[in-house]
Amino acid sequence: MGLGSNLDNPIEQIKKALQALKLLPNTHLKTQSALYRSKPLGSQNQPDYINAVAMLATKLSPLVLLEHLQVIENEQGRVRGAERWGPRTLDLDMLLYDNLQLQQTRLILPHPGLYERAFVLYPLYDCSPDLILPNGQAVSVLMRGFDGLEKVSTEP
Ligand code: ATP
Ligand code: CA
Ligand code: CA
Repeated sequence: MGLGSNLDNPIEQIKKALQALKLLPNTHLKTQSALYRSKPLGSQNQPDYINAVAMLATKLSPLVLLEHLQVIENEQGRVRGAERWGPRTLDLDMLLYDNLQLQQTRLILPHPGLYERAFVLYPLYDCSPDLILPNGQAVSVLMRGFDGLEKVSTEP
């Protein structure tokens, strides 16, 4: 699971979302990454993002899990504007679901940004350093193609 926020105290938004993921039915939060700071995609006229990745074990199907993710986004004040990659309080993207490959309007797996986003690859590496992605590439190798990412201190 990829988490992102750049509005209304992003660090707290991410921490709150991690708590919400822990409370999902038939789901167990296995690992969570450090928090990272990244530049926005799309308009640069918006705050930097805080990003993290969490690995879940779940009995929920991909589409049911997606529905739960959207409920959590809404509960944390997500407003869906017209602007692509506009600012938001919380974005929850399903990066992978086992090695499943899906091409549906509502759900594409793996997430199309997975292979090209440092703010996904670095925290994913925290969670699973040996992970091989469905296209056969190792996260550890792929991430070397991107500049390092600033880790955020989450201590008070
Ligand atoms: P991006 O997907 O490029 O990171 P975004 O996160 O800003 O952009 P959203 O507006 O949050 O995009 O999502 C638009 C739609 O994408 C959602 O309504 C959802 O149905 C669909 N979607 C497709 N694949 C996925 C996925 N793997 N995880 C989450 N949403 C997905
Ligand atoms: Ca996203
Ligand atoms: Ca999203």
